[in-house]
Amino acid sequence: MSIQAIHIQKTFGTYRALDNVSLEVPDGKLVSLLGPSGSGKTTLLRILAGLEFPDSVETSRVLFHGQDVTATPAGKRGVGFVFQHYALFKHMTVAANIAFGLNALPRRERPSRDAIQARVAELLSLVHLDGLGKRYPSELSGGQRQRVALARALAMKPKVLLLDEPFGALDAKVRKDLRRWLRTFQEEIQVTTIFVTHDQEEALELADEVVIMNNARIEQVGDPQAVYDRPVSPFVIEFLGNVNRFVAGMRSNQPTDQSKDVLYVRPHDVELEPEESETHQYALKAKVQHILSAGNYGRVTLERLGTHEPFEAEVPRERLRELDLQPGKVVSVVFRHVRLFPKGEFLESAVKDGQLEAVAG
Ligand code: ATP
Repeated sequence: MSIQAIHIQKTFGTYRALDNVSLEVPDGKLVSLLGPSGSGKTTLLRILAGLEFPDSVETSRVLFHGQDVTATPAGKRGVGFVFQHYALFKHMTVAANIAFGLNALPRRERPSRDAIQARVAELLSLVHLDGLGKRYPSELSGGQRQRVALARALAMKPKVLLLDEPFGALDAKVRKDLRRWLRTFQEEIQVTTIFVTHDQEEALELADEVVIMNNARIEQVGDPQAVYDRPVSPFVIEFLGNVNRFVAGMRSNQPTDQSKDVLYVRPHDVELEPEESETHQYALKAKVQHILSAGNYGRVTLERLGTHEPFEAEVPRERLRELDLQPGKVVSVVFRHVRLFPKGEFLESAVKDGQLEAVAG
């Protein structure tokens, strides 16, 4: 089932939580809403769910498979939810939790006891919890409880699955496992899924499409590679992982140009060369401050000579050894990919004669 949100406007009192937000999610896709706290992610999800309504149901609209559901209450939208603070019923077994929605149906619509039992077994197997139906929530791990919550949401065969920080309360290892599991699972059942997260790694790893929100608006929509490689704003580039910032130097022949261009370079796009290296025409010099070796990469903190701007480079371990890096050593630095804002240009190299410049690549 495809989902469309059109010109969604939502205010709480005088506070604007969503400002003209439009979004299209194609059928069967897994989409993440990513953004800092307070950016409006949960509000948008709740409006899609029918737990909250836009300021006006005439100018703002929500369509499911082309049908207007803007004013349709949650119970009639065919939506399954999982929220961060999953509320499983503590006094009910796992199986009873999963069957809760089915058992609550009016008698005419309710499947037979056997059919419900079969459905619960099927769901338990789907979320890889076969045989745990008789346990109580207190006898499960956090990750297992999350999967029960998901099974419960799926019991009613929703056409849309909405997850609000589904793995928020879990530790890093379990989160990672569940993430992979959710990806495979979603591919298997192909239910249109939207999940909220403020964890960029989670969004980039899981989603077909990432929707980046900031200040009640959508800043960028795209597949993970696109938003990472071609961010449209300084906000997006800074939000999606570590990045170095440099103020671009003014060209000497334009002394009146007070432009505040900022260059962004990801640490893995910073290459280090021996100081005397002539390989690259465009290079600036920097002094090594610290080296933190972790796994296959070393994180090198440097200080640019002259301006003392600090920055980071991510260098493969082998390269660290070749260069024989030590704190205090001076190296030549080459940037592979650079982005310049406010114009958002993509640059091959922005360094000329030791100066950072707005040189189109
Ligand atoms: P988080 O990651 O912290 O959950 P979020 O991006 O999901 O943040 P929302 O929960 O959508 O953000 O909230 C957006 C803004 O709207 C926040 O400033 C919040 O305080 C405000 N807000 C949300 N719900 C209400 C409400 N019922 N009454 C008043 N203000 C609200």
